[in-house]
Amino acid sequence: MNPADLQRYKRLLIARLDELSSKRTAAASLAPGAGDLQGDVIDQANADAEADLHIRLHQSDSHLLRAIEDALARITHDRFGVCETCGSPISKARLEAVPWTRLCRDCKEREQSAA
Ligand SMILES: [Zn+2]
Repeated sequence: MNPADLQRYKRLLIARLDELSSKRTAAASLAPGAGDLQGDVIDQANADAEADLHIRLHQSDSHLLRAIEDALARITHDRFGVCETCGSPISKARLEAVPWTRLCRDCKEREQSAA
């Protein structure tokens, strides 16, 4: 892969990483405070649902965060853009859409149909 492309994917990954960490900070400041909803069952239920949503968002974000960090590590170690399963180069279109991917499209499809 040529160095200009690599730099571009690196920028995409870092931008996404920034986006995720600012979202994380925002979610933390929105987390419902404890104590002041006591006695109101409906509000309590809403607060629980909201807390639940935050946790779920947080989990999928953590997953993505890890994938992005891995991708940046692969750039550093000169292994970026190569499918981990079959060793083929991953297409530019795919890297453009999901720069943190570890699999080429064929392997990803095989993985999904196997699951
Ligand atoms: Zn592959």
